[in-house]
Amino acid sequence: GPEAIEYWTRTTCVYCGVGCQMDVSSRDGKVVAVRPANHPTNRGHLCVKGRYAFEFNHAPDRITTPMLRRNGEWQAVSWDDALDFIAGRLRDIVARDGPDAIGVLGSARASNEENYLAQKFARVVLGTNNVDCCARVCHTPSAKALKTMLGTGAATNCFDDIEHAHALLLCGVNPTENHPVVGARIKQAVLRGAKLVVVDPRCTELAQLADVHLAVKPGYNVPLFNALAATLIEEDLLDYAFLTERVSGFDDFAAFVAEYAPERVAGECGVAAADIRAAARIYATAKPAMCFHGLGMTEHLQGTEGVMTLINLALLSGNLGKPGAGINPLRGQNNVQGSAQMGCDPATLTGSQLIKDAGPRFEAAWGCKLPATHGMDLLQMIDAARDGNLKALWAFGYDVYLSLANEAASRTAMAKLDLVIVQDLFLNETACAFGTVFLPAASFFEKEGTFMNSDRRVQRIRAVVPPPSDAWPDWWIIQALAARLDHPQGFCFDNPRAIWDEVRTLWPDGAGLSYERIERESLHWPCPDEHHPGTPVLHRERFSAGKTAALACIDFVPTPETIDDDYPLLLTTGRTLYHFNAGTMSYRTPNAALRSSDTLDMSPGDAARLGLADGEPVHVHSRHGMTTLPLRITDVVRTGQLFASFHRPELFVNRLTSLVRDRQVHTPEYKVTAVWVERA
Ligand code: SF4
Repeated sequence: GPEAIEYWTRTTCVYCGVGCQMDVSSRDGKVVAVRPANHPTNRGHLCVKGRYAFEFNHAPDRITTPMLRRNGEWQAVSWDDALDFIAGRLRDIVARDGPDAIGVLGSARASNEENYLAQKFARVVLGTNNVDCCARVCHTPSAKALKTMLGTGAATNCFDDIEHAHALLLCGVNPTENHPVVGARIKQAVLRGAKLVVVDPRCTELAQLADVHLAVKPGYNVPLFNALAATLIEEDLLDYAFLTERVSGFDDFAAFVAEYAPERVAGECGVAAADIRAAARIYATAKPAMCFHGLGMTEHLQGTEGVMTLINLALLSGNLGKPGAGINPLRGQNNVQGSAQMGCDPATLTGSQLIKDAGPRFEAAWGCKLPATHGMDLLQMIDAARDGNLKALWAFGYDVYLSLANEAASRTAMAKLDLVIVQDLFLNETACAFGTVFLPAASFFEKEGTFMNSDRRVQRIRAVVPPPSDAWPDWWIIQALAARLDHPQGFCFDNPRAIWDEVRTLWPDGAGLSYERIERESLHWPCPDEHHPGTPVLHRERFSAGKTAALACIDFVPTPETIDDDYPLLLTTGRTLYHFNAGTMSYRTPNAALRSSDTLDMSPGDAARLGLADGEPVHVHSRHGMTTLPLRITDVVRTGQLFASFHRPELFVNRLTSLVRDRQVHTPEYKVTAVWVERA
């Protein structure tokens, strides 16, 4: 029992973007217990994922030796054989099709150091900017919107600001289930008297507590947020000092947004005009007001633009640049902020620095010319595979096939790849369907490094147990492959700390975040030198280089994914409390007993109309595919709408989702799919 445990190792939870600190104990090389740390991030709390979902680490089907697929069968091979095979195939592809026929995908399961090395490998060893990460399918729209309007593509506040806020605006986010430790803090703040506005199609736990719940129809965020902005202007709820000093484009914006008066758009948004006005009044008067948003904002045709309409509200009301006021994407995976921030992005280098600005500095540091061609993002890579222009994909810590929208299109495209390298703990769906080589990776319990959480804290992960058998940390694997490709220079680090020290020389906002400091202090970047205290709240003074932030005039563009007589119900997809993303880890833990399957959530009214009973299996059909799910009748969803989680590979909910993507950064529209349902 835990009473016999003597040694506990402090590390960071691998699951959501809260980044809770926890103490982990081991016996006989296995993780045996997890307990919460009393740390500023989580103050002695963990949720059911962080606390109990650790047994995946020792699951019997963990792959612990490299494998090659020969004649359709997986065969265990040595690391030498696997690396020689990959190096040979990559050389052939570069010689025949050029380096831009290869794509590399980092992920939130890898450390900052590993994501840094992955993008360096793509750019230096392969010679391509085709590098991306799983942020592409979640919060890249947030990063793009925040960077475009405010200059930094990250959350503006720290979690401690929840206690400073007098009002909280939650948009398309369900922290009770997906960021539970922050969800509990928000709930406590509301119970202590903070006002709460929730914008969400579903009546989540926090929506039930809200002063105003705007149950927006999926796909109608842009007109709704424009209507909130129109209300702020019409009812004179503006912060004139803030507008005068720090905002531009007000007159044009006011003329533009007048077209979106609540009374004009409330009907199509599925909410009451009076509720839009009530929400705007709370947000602009109960100051400071802090906003959190999630994938209900970003995974749309107008995901990036939707976040921009949200930022407009902060600029108009002056809810920015102070404790308890700002715009905060809640990141779905702990290190998803870090994977993109380290440079796993086709257009930016480490620190989200544009290639055209920072390129020469990186070339000097890395001793090479950067690739001259534009890189492809993940979705562009999939399209290029479909068209025969991408030949090889290397993905680590990320089940690309299961996660992408529209399974049929993903299958067609990925089947054309000549080489698919999967680096993971388990034979995930990508490996099973398309894998050529499987490289067994170390889990976060088995390696050193850092993660970056939603509120810009860089925190350590530490090895609790050694990797099993022949599994290696991602950074070892990248370095070994670089050496095989005659590129040892720049890939011969002895440990993650040495990699991090190189990151700090290239990322001005992270220069002060030494391992020594983050062992002692909880620091938020920007932290430009070793004496800098870190920056819990962004934009306190001015925007970069004294610029003003321009209000964004965003016209509403409806999604083509609409309901009709044949497909009369609107499905949104998302996650649940007990499980995490593709379920790769959490379904291999006792949490599987707490929730054993994805479900199709349907309102009692729709279920009665269709004659369906709770628990029975139903076929769900979209224009793009079909799957079968157990029905769960719940009044959390509105009549005419449905919700399904996507954790279970065999249920493959992305058979249903469409090819619609964000207009700016290509994030799939997971939140709007027209379907019909029948008894199975
Ligand atoms: Fe892990 Fe997030 Fe739960 Fe904290 S709230 S224990 S980081 S899953």
